[in-house]
Amino acid sequence: MLSTMQDVPLTVTRILAHGSTVHGKAEVITWTGEGEPHRQTFRETGLRAAQLAHALHDDLGVRDDERVATLMWNNSVHLEAYLAIPSMGAVLHTLNLRLPAEQLVWIVNHAADRVVLVNGSLLPLLAPLLPQLPTLEHIVVAGPGDRSVLEGTAAQVHDYEELLAGRPETYAWPETDERQAAALCYTSGTTGEPKGVVYSHRSLYLHSMHVNNAEAFALTGRDIALPVVPMFHVNAWGLPHAAFMAGSSLLMPDRFLQPAPLAEMIEAVRPTIGAAVPTIWQGLLAELDATERDVACLGTVIIGGSACPPSLMKAFEDRHGIRVVHAWGMTETSPLGSVAHPPAGVTGDEEWRYRCTQGRFPASVEARLAGPGGEYLPWDGESAGELEVRGPWIAGAYYGGADGEAFRPEDKFSPDGWLRTGDVGTITPDGYLTLTDRAKDVIKSGGEWISSVELENHLMAHPDVAEAAVVAVPDEKWGERPLATVVLKEGATTGYEDLKEFLAGRIARWQLPERWAVIPAVPKTSVGKFDKKVLRKQYADGGLD
Ligand code: ADP
Repeated sequence: MLSTMQDVPLTVTRILAHGSTVHGKAEVITWTGEGEPHRQTFRETGLRAAQLAHALHDDLGVRDDERVATLMWNNSVHLEAYLAIPSMGAVLHTLNLRLPAEQLVWIVNHAADRVVLVNGSLLPLLAPLLPQLPTLEHIVVAGPGDRSVLEGTAAQVHDYEELLAGRPETYAWPETDERQAAALCYTSGTTGEPKGVVYSHRSLYLHSMHVNNAEAFALTGRDIALPVVPMFHVNAWGLPHAAFMAGSSLLMPDRFLQPAPLAEMIEAVRPTIGAAVPTIWQGLLAELDATERDVACLGTVIIGGSACPPSLMKAFEDRHGIRVVHAWGMTETSPLGSVAHPPAGVTGDEEWRYRCTQGRFPASVEARLAGPGGEYLPWDGESAGELEVRGPWIAGAYYGGADGEAFRPEDKFSPDGWLRTGDVGTITPDGYLTLTDRAKDVIKSGGEWISSVELENHLMAHPDVAEAAVVAVPDEKWGERPLATVVLKEGATTGYEDLKEFLAGRIARWQLPERWAVIPAVPKTSVGKFDKKVLRKQYADGGLD
């Protein structure tokens, strides 16, 4: 028998309506790099979202589920696009501005974007690509920047503010089916061609509710959230929509992502919660250690995107009173998968052990571990296998392009439709996930696996080490052996022997790397993670013995 409950579609339109009325006084505060930051209430954001929808629909002819691209930093205009585009029934397509040019071109053509909203400061990046973007008809420029670089382009160029000026501040938002596409985000292509993940209204809505859950990021109307994670990196981990739903104000860093301005904006605007990948927080930690800053407002920092070294978590807490929460996710999981809040009743080292895991899954995300032969492994905290997940905000296929069919590569989806994450780890009986590696980063030494993440975490706990990345290099005898690359802190002179000694007490002897290299910086991917593909290529012949 069916229930007697109402069947109301879960849509971004409802998030927009709720945030701009009930939480109309909450603010989106954009850092401008000089003078006062730009402040705009959620109410004003809602009115401007309606104006943007009119401009896109009435002037630029955006119809149905057409993709509308954004090439933007985290700022209030980008938030307007986040709300207006899905609510009018179209699809928000965030472009990763750090991708190599050929990948950006590939993505825009694959999605057949006709309209792009772009920050003026990013025009030098967009302009040289235009001859290769035949589908692009309209370029809408927001904020300052040299527009002369667009001269001669076939596309029409518009000014964002001029386009919005005088338009009605209400819009007859359509009642969209909750299963319809709302946003499109491509994976960053670390493993081959980028793949498009299409989020539905329903998945964004449910994911936002989860972000605001106390077992996740717990945003409330009393918070100011600082998404340092870019809005082009899996929707800034869902924070913009979640904040609009919870009435949590947003501090948007725009293009000021370096440690010094980040510290400055935290001190000035006093956010209560921040989110970014480990490399950003590593930089901020060094800045905070070096300068006197009052950042006590920042109660919680979410770190995810790659394994967070425990030493980084402890340093934030011990030296600056900031609690770090470790979380795991990926583009295909919207991205929130697991969050590492400890269970009740644990303290001291035991609590830390829980907090350094990748965390627990919420009820809506089911997880299982696939062994090498395809068998499913027990949750005993020891059996390591590839993590597979399913749930209402987990991708079930990839976008096939403007005229293509959605597709499900076998290495990415199990025959029964679970997402194969490519991450290898264990799960404890009480559901805590510990990732030991990405499948492609595991070091297979003489039939045993060495976890690159474990070695890196130990190395980064050494007081002289700023960053450490461990990769597999071919070895005649063992098949593969670890190569440890380290970036030393300024002025440090520690040698390989000292580091080896330091590791020796912490890991099994046979796992100790014989090959070492001190490098100036670990290469990073477009979203700021260690780029092991590049490292492997650079050090294919193995570093120093
Ligand atoms: P890309 O695959 O290009 O790096 P994603 O942002 O989708 O882009 O990356 C998802 C991957 O990042 C996960 O599959 C996992 O390997 C890694 N990752 C994310 N969070 C964590 C974490 N907390 N610990 C370890 N790895 C993580």
